[in-house]
Amino acid sequence: MSEAHYGFVNTPIYRGSTVLFKTLDDLEHHRARYTYGTEGTPTIESLESAWTAITGAAGTVVCPSGLGAVALALMSTLSHGEHLLMPDSVYLPSRSLCSNLLERFGVETTFYDPLLGARLESLVRPNTSTIFLESPGSQTFEVQDVPSITEFAARRGIKTVIDNTWATPLFFSAHEHGCDLSVEAGTKYLGGHSDLLLGLVSASAAAWPALKKTAQSLAMVPGAEDCYLALRGMRTLHIRLEEAQTRGLEMAHWLQSQPEVMTILHPSFPSCPGHEHWKRDFKGSTGLFSIVLRPGFTRQGLSDMLDHLSVFGMGYSWGGFESLILPFDCSSYRTATRWNPGGFGLRLQIGLEDIEDLQADLREGLDRLSASTRVPLR
Ligand SMILES: *Cc1c(COP(=O)(O)O)cnc(C)c1O
Repeated sequence: MSEAHYGFVNTPIYRGSTVLFKTLDDLEHHRARYTYGTEGTPTIESLESAWTAITGAAGTVVCPSGLGAVALALMSTLSHGEHLLMPDSVYLPSRSLCSNLLERFGVETTFYDPLLGARLESLVRPNTSTIFLESPGSQTFEVQDVPSITEFAARRGIKTVIDNTWATPLFFSAHEHGCDLSVEAGTKYLGGHSDLLLGLVSASAAAWPALKKTAQSLAMVPGAEDCYLALRGMRTLHIRLEEAQTRGLEMAHWLQSQPEVMTILHPSFPSCPGHEHWKRDFKGSTGLFSIVLRPGFTRQGLSDMLDHLSVFGMGYSWGGFESLILPFDCSSYRTATRWNPGGFGLRLQIGLEDIEDLQADLREGLDRLSASTRVPLR
């Protein structure tokens, strides 16, 4: 590719709508390498082809956010009157997409227990066209038995779409495990610096034509700068993920030994639901996991802890350079399973700061939590 750019090693940022045709004949036959901004640019194509190579897919389309990528993937597999199976542990905005938008277009969604595995087949209806998976689940980290689900889905002609953002293709090979479409929020580890929004959908050969057609119809193209930043992120993704894995594990093990912490929801820990599937199917873990605190702490104690952290920030998203902490409670919206872990849930994104600083920040926070509530610790 670099010969096309005078030898420069990176594909430049191509911005633009109009592409000029040389002759009337070329225009009438759309005879040109590029024809219009929404149909592709060298910057977008570089990103798509690199992602296709990393995922082992037949093709990739990109769009302006991870949630947009979930919508695009589902719109390429579903039609009016069809039925969708969605894991109860799915990313909350993906859940809202089904209830608020897909329902209006005549698609009915059933939420299912993410740990059902092959038993999910009992929820299949004659009009079930798509099974969505997200593994591990958002916030609660249930690891799904992906091969058992894609096995019966393929046998019955049902398409499977997975949100693979947590593991990325480097730590979980979605297409090798039978998924037709795989979604990645490039906003997270691919971008890696909390400075862009991007989504990618990769497809198996069978699912590719419908995905490409849907993407062309919607023309939800990301900005050139964001594609460029994602391409740059891809150069170091493997190194950053290894580091995220090491640091995530170090912090999770340290948290396990803190008396205020009851449960570690990290896929590589046996205490995480579906841990055995992570062990069998994944090549690694990343720097995002959750903990459940012991019962009995108060809301006041929790705000004393969280309001005064100095290294950890409180905010949405993850996968960047900075550490984040987020309280969560899924009990009000889950419908197929019950979220009732006993104590407060906290999700942690471990960034690149000094590990000792991270531990000191949390230790001081846990001291503030314990100080405002008298909970007997072991
Ligand atoms: C963040 C996230 C998304 C959405 O990505 P955005 O780019 O923020 O829209 C989708 N799925 C998962 C699992 C996520 O964590």
